[in-house]
Amino acid sequence: MPSFKSVIILFLLTLPGGRPLIHDKAQPADWCERAIRKEMAQLRETPSSRKWFKVYQVGSGVFAIAEPYNFQEVISYLITGRQKALLFDTGMGMDSILPLVRELTPLPVIVLNSHTHYDHMGGNYAFSDVRGMDLDYTREHAANGWLHEQLSAEVTPAAFCQQRLPGLDTAHYRIRPFTLSAYIHDGEQLDLGGRSIQIIATPGHAPDAISLLDRAAGYLWTGDSYYPGPIYLFGDHTDLDAYRQSMKKLATLVGGLRVVFPSHNIPMADPQVLLQVTQALEDIESGKMRGTEAGDHISSFPLKGFSFLIQDSLLKRPPVQNK
Ligand SMILES: [Zn+2]
Ligand SMILES: [Zn+2]
Repeated sequence: MPSFKSVIILFLLTLPGGRPLIHDKAQPADWCERAIRKEMAQLRETPSSRKWFKVYQVGSGVFAIAEPYNFQEVISYLITGRQKALLFDTGMGMDSILPLVRELTPLPVIVLNSHTHYDHMGGNYAFSDVRGMDLDYTREHAANGWLHEQLSAEVTPAAFCQQRLPGLDTAHYRIRPFTLSAYIHDGEQLDLGGRSIQIIATPGHAPDAISLLDRAAGYLWTGDSYYPGPIYLFGDHTDLDAYRQSMKKLATLVGGLRVVFPSHNIPMADPQVLLQVTQALEDIESGKMRGTEAGDHISSFPLKGFSFLIQDSLLKRPPVQNK
């Protein structure tokens, strides 16, 4: 994500329901010229034939599949066991993720979504085993996908590098519906063969948000509940109380964690950051930390390496007005 302002502008453009813009101007980032984040250079890149994705091996049998040429900078993860693989999110759907996954593993693939916001489910349609939460919110996104009108801002020159995807039909870009093959549940364990992955329901950012835990390896995938950047806690389906509870639940795991894998920007984070997240949420709840008005009734709470953008109506205390 390029900068705070352009993130907000582009995201609001894409919110369902046609929410108004809160800023008029963005400095358009050139997504073809822009250098890959410096943190990526320290990771082990896995070569692939796809020009749209960047693949990094970030753990034992764990690949981060990044899309650094669109401002969302979303990251999906392929987690492999001996018998099965789990694909945690399928990205923007601008380029198909299925052929890339097939380059990385021959194993049968189970797809789970960190949540069904459009930037995480774009390639779902191509897979036969896509499991999701037993919620209307999930069923609605499975049945309808996301329409072009909701996503047109994702494919403007300011939002992505078209040279990387010359074949993309930007006039009709949408997220296709998909078929749910089974429901998943909080606490469920998925056995991939020599690797057990636990599903942890972490609603708040979205009703169907989940995290994944590989307890033996000390790996936690946080989806959009935590990533190094502005964390969105606004929109019709955001539940701040649920988010606070979810992050408290994740913070109890920190002692057993070696690494956190977030779903945007940079694929690896120090688990200690989850303690900062919960402390900040407590300080916001108690009024010790006050946000500043960022426009469109959203308050900004800048922290070290990340920030919260929270809808004012979810806060007990009004934000401090910007000068
Ligand atoms: Zn999201
Ligand atoms: Zn996201």
